[in-house]
Amino acid sequence: MDHIMHFSIQTSKPQQFINITGKVAEAVKNSNVRDGIAVIFVPHTTAGVTINEKADPDVVRDMITALDKTYPVHGDYQHFEGNSHAHIKASLMGSSCTVIIADGKLQLGTWQAIYFCEFDGPRNREFHVKIISG
Ligand code: ZN
Repeated sequence: MDHIMHFSIQTSKPQQFINITGKVAEAVKNSNVRDGIAVIFVPHTTAGVTINEKADPDVVRDMITALDKTYPVHGDYQHFEGNSHAHIKASLMGSSCTVIIADGKLQLGTWQAIYFCEFDGPRNREFHVKIISG
């Protein structure tokens, strides 16, 4: 049997990475699935999801800074909303991540965390976690 959980998330900055590993682990626990995969999906065009280091918060700070250097907030864009930088960054991070579940646990590395990536905040956002047994 497959399970899906929906989460709301409030971002507080224009650009921000929020560690959602605990929420995904909660979805795994609620599913009672011991072995399978978790798919984390972000249904937005200016936010994404990625996996990266959790130990040093400067890593995600540096990622945002580097993305801003390459895709500045104000640049040679034509999109009428004025948030093309956010659309580009969201596509670079991607709209989904897949993590293996073994023995009831997410098989993330010691230093890995799952991050919701806001690029056009602050906003009320959501993400979905689908747990597939197998
Ligand atoms: Zn737009």
